[in-house]
Amino acid sequence: MFRKILIANRGEIALRIQRACRELGIPTVAVHSTADASAMHVRLADESVCIGPPPARDSYLNIPAILSAAAITGADAIHPGYGFLSENAAFAEMVEAHGLTFIGPSSAHIRMMGDKIAAKTAMDSLGVPLVPGSAGALADLEEAARVAAKIGYPVLIKAAAGGGGRGMKVAETPDKLEEAWSVARTEARAAFGNDAVYIEKYLDRPRHIELQILADSYGNVVHFGERDCSLQRRHQKLLEEAGSPALNPAQRDEIGATVTAALSKLGYRNAGTLEFLYQDGQFAFIEMNTRLQVEHPITEMVCSIDLVREQIRIAAGQPLGYTQQDVTFSGHAIECRINAEDPETFAPSPGKVTAFHAPGGLGVRVDSALYAGYTVPSFYDSMIAKLIVHAPTRAEAIARMRRALAEFAIVGVKTTLPLHQRIINDPTFQAGDYTIHWLERFVAGE
Ligand code: ADP
Repeated sequence: MFRKILIANRGEIALRIQRACRELGIPTVAVHSTADASAMHVRLADESVCIGPPPARDSYLNIPAILSAAAITGADAIHPGYGFLSENAAFAEMVEAHGLTFIGPSSAHIRMMGDKIAAKTAMDSLGVPLVPGSAGALADLEEAARVAAKIGYPVLIKAAAGGGGRGMKVAETPDKLEEAWSVARTEARAAFGNDAVYIEKYLDRPRHIELQILADSYGNVVHFGERDCSLQRRHQKLLEEAGSPALNPAQRDEIGATVTAALSKLGYRNAGTLEFLYQDGQFAFIEMNTRLQVEHPITEMVCSIDLVREQIRIAAGQPLGYTQQDVTFSGHAIECRINAEDPETFAPSPGKVTAFHAPGGLGVRVDSALYAGYTVPSFYDSMIAKLIVHAPTRAEAIARMRRALAEFAIVGVKTTLPLHQRIINDPTFQAGDYTIHWLERFVAGE
């Protein structure tokens, strides 16, 4: 097992990883920017190192500073969390080149899945169903038009290097294709420095359903069921459920078997998530995330597993120690992402938190690094808390979430708590009868 783990992240996920390390008896090193000197992940760490000024590119993305912090403190492994350097293959390589362990997959797999075209090609060859679209990057607008005519409109132009919902543009009809093509490419170039794009059939009423997997270094792959992340605004998830209101256990077993067989053949290691669109009873792969995800706690609640602990154990070379038959699903879990944003305009609302009271009680979990007196900086993501509930049935989980949301007090910054209250009380949500397009219309008051 590791001597000491450096956590190359901040906020709630840095705390989440510290908790797993502490339970395993492993000391942790926190890194932080000057803006985060009094952040909770720094206060609770065994040691901390300042790695630079507030902008992420100078601190949380500053690879030499992070590697130096590991060297100075004698850490022998790095957990990247999510975001920042978690899907940076070059970083994973450098960590290993410095004789440290990267707690995650191989850099080759990170690189492969970071290129969505390569990811789709790989999954296709492994028998995983895809969204219909171009076989590779599009050479020019003419090729885009040819593929679009073949798969039928509407179509979606997507960036090969895409992430965070950027570099994605819908063309409803052939006359809109040229504009979508050039906007997607411009956005992709600006956001990722790579304007390679591909095309997919734009599905009109899919759900976003993803599968959580863990794989060890000995070819064992196990899945932990699905998360339904259909409630999105601008392709960003706001509320997630495990399991999906749209799947039954037999459907879960079927897609789970496809996915675990594919990843075992690929030789994948550590945690990963395969994202699918699900429509008319069909799964269609869109991308794979080679890291821990924001919404991992709902899987932990229904499967009674600590995914971060498992990531650390696997990275240390330990076998999974259980098979698919040992994984059981119990009850229903929901997560609300609470952002420091205006609940109507979604404008970021950084600033000082003057009062903070987190809900509690049976089946309630709050993953957050907030405290009264803390100032939410303007430099980073606006998510300030994840409220997770678990209950025997979906109806009871909804009732519990309603109760927990009402207890949650965050004063001083605007938050999306009121939006979650509206969602949880909505009959369409309660019926579980929503697609990826529902929330956008709900927010617009339609
Ligand atoms: P990113 O990596 O930027 O998050 P994804 O490929 O994961 O991009 O897609 C993000 C979201 O965009 C999906 O969850 C879904 O809501 C929507 N989306 C992606 N592809 C399609 C598609 N072919 N048809 C309809 N919606 C899509």
